[in-house]
Amino acid sequence: MFRLAIVVPCYNEQEVFKDTAAQLTGLMIDLNQKKKISDDSFILFVNDGSKDRTWELIENEYKTNSWVCGLKLAGNVGHQNALLAGLTASKDLSDITISIDADLQDDISVIEEMIDRASEGFDIVYGVRSSRKKDTAFKRMTAQGFYKFMRLMGANTVYNHADFRLMSRRAVEQLGKYKERNLFLRGIVPMIGYNTTSVYYERKERMAGESKYPLKKMLSFAFDGITSLSIRPISMITGLGCCIVFVCIIAAIYAFISYFMGHAEPGWTSLILSIWFLGGVQLVSIGLIGQYVGKVYIETKERPRYNVEAMLLHENDK
Ligand code: UDP
Ligand code: MG
Repeated sequence: MFRLAIVVPCYNEQEVFKDTAAQLTGLMIDLNQKKKISDDSFILFVNDGSKDRTWELIENEYKTNSWVCGLKLAGNVGHQNALLAGLTASKDLSDITISIDADLQDDISVIEEMIDRASEGFDIVYGVRSSRKKDTAFKRMTAQGFYKFMRLMGANTVYNHADFRLMSRRAVEQLGKYKERNLFLRGIVPMIGYNTTSVYYERKERMAGESKYPLKKMLSFAFDGITSLSIRPISMITGLGCCIVFVCIIAAIYAFISYFMGHAEPGWTSLILSIWFLGGVQLVSIGLIGQYVGKVYIETKERPRYNVEAMLLHENDK
């Protein structure tokens, strides 16, 4: 039997809060009766500097509902940081944590399956959307484009997985060792390693209220994800520079042939070759500087070099 913490980041969620709290409480009672989670399991609502009545609602719920706890952040720090705050706060109070959005677009009925996977020994269980029928066509297209573009740019994430996932205590502890400020959980969690699996569900519509991730925020989220996970864009500049130098060589051959055949205007050959050559040299140089900047950036993150999963030792080796 696990001690479970469900972590729910909330930003201006007064429209959905009551419903979410009721559904999650129902689930806790059910899982508790099935002896899958202990009596001291809890739901932690993290108020991410909401400007509406969200915190007031959390406080009221806390007074009457013994499953519900609250964490109030001093200001709005964004979904990812709010989630990390919740996970960090519940780490020492639970065996497993499950993170889920406040609008319950992710299907809470697979939480039981996630817990079953955890009891089979999995440390990380991803909730993966098997379909997005209920999202608008625009949201679906932009969101799927988002995953593909990220991958192209070298930022590996689990396809169609948002932040609905189960993590064991030791996985959250490892996560805490990634000290970077620009946090992109979906990219970092797969780096932790450990035993990982997925459960599948259909994503629903938002119950009420508006999406807190309009296109503008999604684009900046994608940009954040790429630049905090990957230095491939820098390598692309170097690659582009090399391509241009190559084009320059072809252009040189062409220009010399024209020159010797007498087709070229005076001055054209040297001019066209200088343009291509300088362009190529500049890009290669920028790329080269970029490679060093990229190294500095990776060093400053101070990510753990490795994560130990298990060690077999004999008694007399200790
Ligand atoms: N959220 C947050 N801080 C923010 C923005 C969003 O904690 O600055 C929370 C929000 O309350 C919700 C989750 O992040 O629980 C995901 O937001 P939303 O459902 O609006 O995103 P979408 O599902 O439309 O991508
Ligand atoms: Mg949502």
